[in-house]
Order: sequence, then C-alpha cells, then structure tokens
Amino acid sequence: MNKTLQPKFKTEICDNCKKEFKRGWIPNLGKFSNINLISHWTRDESKTWRGNKLVCVPCLLEWYKEDKTEFKKIVPANRYQTFANYISRGLIKEYKE
Ligand SMILES: [Zn+2]
Repeated sequence: MNKTLQPKFKTEICDNCKKEFKRGWIPNLGKFSNINLISHWTRDESKTWRGNKLVCVPCLLEWYKEDKTEFKKIVPANRYQTFANYISRGLIKEYKE
C-alpha cells in the first residue's frame, strides 16, 4: 500500500463502556493496533472479558488492574508478562493524533 494512502486510525466503539475510541494504525505491521483486542492477549478467540472482544485503553487497564484474577485466568502467563512489559514501556496508551 502506498504510504500516503495508509489510514492513521479508525474510530471504534468499546464493547465495555460503549464509548468511541481511536485505534491507531501501525505502519510496521500494516494493520490497526492489536492492543485493544482481548483475543490478542488471550490468544484464544473464544475467550472474552465480560463478553467483550474489543475495548478502549481505559477499559483495558481496568481489566488488568482491577480485575486481575480474571485477567490471569484467561491470559497465558507469557502474554501477561508482555502486557506488563508494554505498560512499563508506556505502550498501552490511547491513540493521539
Ligand atoms: Zn471502554
């Protein structure tokens, strides 16, 4: 795809809080950010958090910080480590233009 034609983000609705959020385009991957997908962390399409599949960053952080038991139940240990690592590197953040 021509670089100038690549989207910067797309607007999505969070399954959990129903608010709009922007999902950033990752040029290196040629796709939209995976961080908002619950299945990206669970590595299993059938696993959802409270029935949610796509969530905004504040809800993602709520899942991780305030629902840790559930988080650890459905996210494999190595993915949990990756998530914690992303947090410490400031990579779990809302898309800003
Ligand atoms: Zn949300």
